[in-house]
Amino acid sequence: ETPAADSRPKASFSASGESVAIVTGAGGGIGRASSLKLAEAGFKVVVVDYNAATGEETLRLIREQGGEGLFVQADVSKNEDVERYVGAAVEAYGRIDAFVNNAGVLQKFSLLENIELSEYERIMSVNVRGAFLGLKHVLKVMAEQGAGSIINTASTAGLRAEHSMAVYTASKHAVIGLTKAAAIEYVKKGVRVNAICPGGVDTPLTQGVPAMMQDSGYMPEEFPNMRMGRFADPSELAEMVVFLASGKSSYMTGSIVAVDGGLTL
Ligand code: ADP
Repeated sequence: ETPAADSRPKASFSASGESVAIVTGAGGGIGRASSLKLAEAGFKVVVVDYNAATGEETLRLIREQGGEGLFVQADVSKNEDVERYVGAAVEAYGRIDAFVNNAGVLQKFSLLENIELSEYERIMSVNVRGAFLGLKHVLKVMAEQGAGSIINTASTAGLRAEHSMAVYTASKHAVIGLTKAAAIEYVKKGVRVNAICPGGVDTPLTQGVPAMMQDSGYMPEEFPNMRMGRFADPSELAEMVVFLASGKSSYMTGSIVAVDGGLTL
């Protein structure tokens, strides 16, 4: 197979409405903000979430701002569900230009010795198996196209350990491993794969974090996500997602981009 001479994405970031994005976890904070900004940038958006109510709401908001898309209810940890949302995108729009591999779950704060095996399975099945399955099925389509951009949502917990979050830390390190591995395997096929590392983001997922930290008996003196005195707004992550989805980031692949308000400094 001849690698594309020009590895820059052929069809991305067009304002003409020809580009297609899939966003998983699109009912949540980062996923919804990313879906809305991608739609604003001219992408048709395939909205994927386990939660039908929040996913449908994201699609409604896309349409309200004049965008186009469709919703697929899917559990990203199930192979047949991943095949279904990838198939729906290809069937409806014929291609996938950007894939925001974003659905994730947060671990209950706990010392490692107290983490139940069922909790381990829950975190790993969504954060790692889900990310893997998304990559597996989308990379196949993008390699055939000879173009595409994938953005995996990792975390600052993928860069160093988060106390009382051993399994979450391991799961996000794995997402970074998958990002790097996919990036080297698909670079000659015109597909770029990058990861974003949010620190604290103001989303439903993190609402309970301060209380959980207190319950676990671990509350750092300075709440670590608060160097800027606040969590990120999801739209601040979405800006980076759109940049990575677009041809503006044409020389970036395998990059692990912290958008963390200085948390990892
Ligand atoms: P954040 O935006 O910070 O990543 P959220 O909790 O707001 O966190 O978003 C995570 C999203 O991922 C939610 O909308 C949730 O429904 C979705 N999600 C969680 N598990 C799955 C799953 N197994 N399949 C599909 N979507 C999932």
